[in-house]
Amino acid sequence: MPMRHVPERTCIACRLTKPKREMTRVVRGVDGSVAVDPTGKKSGRGAYVCRTALCWEQSLKKRALDRALKTEIDAPTRARLEEHARLQLDASPRAGARYEVEHESTTV
Ligand SMILES: [Zn+2]
Repeated sequence: MPMRHVPERTCIACRLTKPKREMTRVVRGVDGSVAVDPTGKKSGRGAYVCRTALCWEQSLKKRALDRALKTEIDAPTRARLEEHARLQLDASPRAGARYEVEHESTTV
């Protein structure tokens, strides 16, 4: 078998190995906060989840993610991750585009 340099990661929910770019990285940062890492470059303990509804459900509802990150994910964070998963799964490939909230500056 020829050597190929496609970085692969194991999904914490279904345990299948897939190319890293097809997965979403969730990271527990040094401050203990858990967040999706779209760049894949944040430092901290990372876990990879397939971009499927089933794997996200297992990760969040069955706490596979908590175990993988060796932490307890609190409710607000869990809600944020659920939201992220939902948007990502619904969305087109423009994931990563950010919606900027318009606000008026009152500073002088
Ligand atoms: Zn999976």
